Amino acid sequence: MHPLNGVYYYITRTCNQRCDHCYIMAGPDIPRRGDMRGEEAMAKISEAQSLGLRSVKFTGGEPFVHPDLLDIIEFCGSQGIAMGIETNATLIDADAAAMLARHRVYIAISIDNPDRRVHDAFRHMESAFDKAMRGLEHLANAGCRTQITASINADSSDPRSLRGLVDLAASSGAEKLKLNIIVAVGRAAQCGNLLSVEEAIAVNEFVEKEIIPSAPVKVVTSLPVAFKSTRAIRQTVDH
Ligand code: SF4
Repeated sequence: MHPLNGVYYYITRTCNQRCDHCYIMAGPDIPRRGDMRGEEAMAKISEAQSLGLRSVKFTGGEPFVHPDLLDIIEFCGSQGIAMGIETNATLIDADAAAMLARHRVYIAISIDNPDRRVHDAFRHMESAFDKAMRGLEHLANAGCRTQITASINADSSDPRSLRGLVDLAASSGAEKLKLNIIVAVGRAAQCGNLLSVEEAIAVNEFVEKEIIPSAPVKVVTSLPVAFKSTRAIRQTVDH
């Protein structure tokens, strides 16, 4: 039997945002009553360790709305389990950042557009952009490794937005920018401004030719390999 190695832990479906594209349809109106509390989660993680678990990626919903997240992270850290978190970063303060740094948690922060108005409207949360940037600042000050993950639709696929995202990632100390082309799953199926396959391929070509060669941070896109150029596929294999 193969070892378990890693799990993707959907710690809650509750979220303090209600993004247009959310594939698990999370939001503030989703009750937390189905979530495992800390002790139960730690017991499951211990069980998984006997199957070979070595890493956990926390996602949601927004992991930081879970009241026991930090206890669970402490527990995983004490067990030598490698960790990552996908978060909108709006709830990360200096104490949380210091704790994440202590356990070397890799943090992926969602920021979809360098224009705060576009980001806030897409996430249905006032000041979402400013709060995320403050969270990022705490993470950078604490010395955490971070990446920016941007969900790309027709509102954020223009050259100005893409270049702005690269600048934002570089200036905030992130080591990587991931451009996720939104697909029609969950709430995104009702979005209405998704990129067509042809548009997604064009965006990917632009990123490969005009952005990646001079970007001060690593930039990757989520376009399926079958749609990428042979040059990009070779680079992925080489790295
Ligand atoms: S922040 Fe993430 S989990 Fe929350 S609504 Fe947006 S996409 Fe969904």
